[in-house]
Amino acid sequence: MKDTTRHQGKRRLLVQVLQDKGIANAAVLKAIGKIPRHFFMDSSFEDHAYQDKAFPIAADQTISQPYTVAFQSELMQIEKGDMVLEIGTGSGYQTAVLCELGAKVFSIERQQELYKKTKLFLSKLGYRPRFLSFGDGYKGLPEYAPFNSIIVTAGAPYVPKPLLSQLKVGGRLVIPVGDDPQIMHLYVRTSETTFEKKEFGEFRFVPLLEDKN
Ligand code: SAH
Repeated sequence: MKDTTRHQGKRRLLVQVLQDKGIANAAVLKAIGKIPRHFFMDSSFEDHAYQDKAFPIAADQTISQPYTVAFQSELMQIEKGDMVLEIGTGSGYQTAVLCELGAKVFSIERQQELYKKTKLFLSKLGYRPRFLSFGDGYKGLPEYAPFNSIIVTAGAPYVPKPLLSQLKVGGRLVIPVGDDPQIMHLYVRTSETTFEKKEFGEFRFVPLLEDKN
């Protein structure tokens, strides 16, 4: 795996594209400008890695579109040292972005193949998420809660209650809800018992699957 000047050049153009689409958070743009996205994809897609598109990864899953990664990351309003939970580790690209933003990152993946592969790969790249979990994201990670923010990177049929209850007061849940396409939702916990909900545009994700066992 090499990160050549050609890759770096394409990455700068991608950052420009994201800015033109309205992404303004400097730290998010910097992270995307830094992380070699082509490392997170099958080598056969290497030439396309800096297009603003989702691509297939293992286990019938996808690496999210860069605009989606940027949009969700921006909505989370991450500050250094924040406790952040990601549902759907997948390729680990979004996990790497969260690490670059200075968060203490916890991430859950239900596909064992991806969980194993990505765990090894992130550590090879030098990323140190606090905890990668093989399990069901619907349940969150109660043993590490509360979190400053939670990001769901798969389309949820409904908002799982445990995720809302694992937010700190002031914490933010960014979750795409609905069937294809999903509507991006932001829930801000305004008190122990109250949440403020905002809706954003349409996005397309693979489904957040419920484990039946
Ligand atoms: N953040 C990833 C997105 C991968 S696609 C990336 O940028 O690469 C969504 C991921 O969510 C898939 O890897 C899928 O296996 C995982 N997923 C789906 N349902 C899940 C669940 N209930 N719990 C945890 N992960 C889940």
